[in-house]
Amino acid sequence: MTRIKLIFLLAYIVFVSIDARAQTVIFGANDYIEYQVGTLPIVISVPHGGALVPSTIPDRTCNNPTTVTDANTVAVGRALSDSIFSRTGCYPHVIYCHLRRTKLDANRNIDDGACGDVAAELAWTEYHHFIDSAQQLAAAQYADEVLYFDIHGHGHPKARIEYGYLLEKSDLLLPDSILIEESYLNESSIQGLVRNNRQNLDHVTLLRGPEAFGTLLADAGYPGVPSLQDPTPEEDDPYFTGGYSTQVHTTATAGVIANGIQLELNRPGIRDTDENRKNFAGAFSDAVVQFIGLHTTAEVEGCDVVVSTHQPILLQSPNDLVCVPTLLSSAQREVRFPELRTAELYDIEIITFQGRVVQQGEMHLASLVLNEGLMPGSYFVRVRSQDSGTVRIGRVMIF
Ligand SMILES: [Zn+2]
Repeated sequence: MTRIKLIFLLAYIVFVSIDARAQTVIFGANDYIEYQVGTLPIVISVPHGGALVPSTIPDRTCNNPTTVTDANTVAVGRALSDSIFSRTGCYPHVIYCHLRRTKLDANRNIDDGACGDVAAELAWTEYHHFIDSAQQLAAAQYADEVLYFDIHGHGHPKARIEYGYLLEKSDLLLPDSILIEESYLNESSIQGLVRNNRQNLDHVTLLRGPEAFGTLLADAGYPGVPSLQDPTPEEDDPYFTGGYSTQVHTTATAGVIANGIQLELNRPGIRDTDENRKNFAGAFSDAVVQFIGLHTTAEVEGCDVVVSTHQPILLQSPNDLVCVPTLLSSAQREVRFPELRTAELYDIEIITFQGRVVQQGEMHLASLVLNEGLMPGSYFVRVRSQDSGTVRIGRVMIF
């Protein structure tokens, strides 16, 4: 059995629940990872705010790990979600890691982040799979115009937000006339947006011009770098450029649709009290709605989502069975499996995250119509070849 298959078999124990606000929330195994399913083109992840310290997962010691918690960032994530909902009428997608960073660092590659522990590796896989799924769902609903924010907290001396676009401090110190060169754009986590934005603004303008994300939040009283007000960290300033997730879940990586920014939030005035988190969340919501309106064609005010089912969506994460589409509505219930042979017969099962089989049968022509009665949510699709006995597992989501 491959490691990927093992992970997907283990993942059967995860479950789906509905919270008090009637928003779909998916928890991974042992509640380590939480995914609040949204309907906006905004995906937020919170990797370093977790508090769970299960004794079954050893403390990380591999490769000289950083284990500091980003205090109150889970509360910041919830405040952002609530505020964006009040502002637009829809929720963003939000993915939380609830394991403390001593057990899992979800913003590292799997080897450094999980240090070889099987349960930590499963949580890592779920975390990144949920981010991928969220981005795919949002991309299908909003014509590929997706914004991704990875939320952190820093303890640097200067009380300002540090925006990470994967550009080094030495890059930001360059004059605009050099920073605008293609070689810097090719590093950037918003390169897709630069190549396709509503006003045809260039890279430097989107980083630190009058309508850059950092500028909009600075205008609202939350200074940050880079921005029009504060274009670059100084030579001696500590500064975070953006980590693993900003690299792998943005257009800096070929094939990824979302453009993204790592937000390193200072604590006083933003993360420290309920009231400050709420006020910051209000400013963030205004800024993100404004940013989307200025630079994309997505409509998020008075949110009313129309689900597109025409476009094939392939999950980017380890996935044994390609399902097209992976996002289905009540009007579109047919899933095709382009990798399977149409001449062959397969046994197929649709399985909930709790492991309950909700549909089964024999499949012809490598396609299946899902039962009418299936509730919205995520499902595993398990296909077994009657000839070879080979089992493959994929995932679909129903709205
Ligand atoms: Zn962090």
